[in-house]
Amino acid sequence: MIIAIAGGHRGAGRTTVATDLALTLMQTGRDLGLSGRVALVDADVEQPATDLLLRPLIRERGEVSMPLPRVNERCTGQGRCAEVCRFHAIALYEGRPVVSPELCCGCGLCLSECPEGALEEDRQPLGSVQMGRVGSMTWVGGRLDMGASWPRPLIGEAIRWATRRSCEFVIVDGPAGAGPPALEAMRAGDLALVVVEPSALGLAALQRTLSAAREHLSLPVMVVINKRPPGAEVGAGAELVAYCRQERVPIMARIDIDERAPSARARGVPLIVANPERIALFQEFYRTLLQGVGV
Ligand code: SF4
Ligand code: SF4
Repeated sequence: MIIAIAGGHRGAGRTTVATDLALTLMQTGRDLGLSGRVALVDADVEQPATDLLLRPLIRERGEVSMPLPRVNERCTGQGRCAEVCRFHAIALYEGRPVVSPELCCGCGLCLSECPEGALEEDRQPLGSVQMGRVGSMTWVGGRLDMGASWPRPLIGEAIRWATRRSCEFVIVDGPAGAGPPALEAMRAGDLALVVVEPSALGLAALQRTLSAAREHLSLPVMVVINKRPPGAEVGAGAELVAYCRQERVPIMARIDIDERAPSARARGVPLIVANPERIALFQEFYRTLLQGVGV
């Protein structure tokens, strides 16, 4: 099963939820009925953070690139390539097409549409993927190169590295937002978990993510309310709960603010290491998840 933790808003605690769930399953998976290996994928490739918390022992590393068209001497300059590129990545300059790498998504349409066969495929570097171990857990992380502007292929490649390992349970820590990178991370999942705070910001972020996921994906979307003040949700938090009920989005966990979070962050350790009482909480969360997907 692949759980994609993506969407929502920055600072809601996606990485904390992903690492705490992964470490709980690694340490107590047998008690929970898991027989295979667990993997954690850091697919937040523009701002990866799980390697700092988990310090994986790296075993493998690969570079990731994407196609970039290059014009050859057969070009007659009539501009069909610039017309078909919906990203406006090709402009004619003095009768010669010029490709902007930062706008080109590598779709290859211009190559197939050029009547002269005047476009060839080069590669442009995007970033790297690393794979390693954290105890018995597989860890995979993608990292976008400085200045590279297309995270999606890198996110997809990082997730493929993990799924090739035939792990029983894969947790993807994806990007925030409702844009293509967050949707790319969600697309790989059997379900998407959106982590939000019980606030007006959390509600707005959930609305945007849910709307994008319903338009572009067909997978169950569920919610984790994180950093909840102790007790029931009030104010904007209560509105968030009401919205989930109205949209029939299941709330899989409500996690209270953890006062040990600042010191765990300062020490660079996962919150569950600073507060082992969270293991029981995440075991319960895992059981609720299984019920939610009917396993
Ligand atoms: S479509 Fe081909 S021949 Fe026409 S301008 Fe583009 S590269 Fe040149
Ligand atoms: S590969 Fe796609 S995005 Fe890139 S220049 Fe060609 S048509 Fe445009």
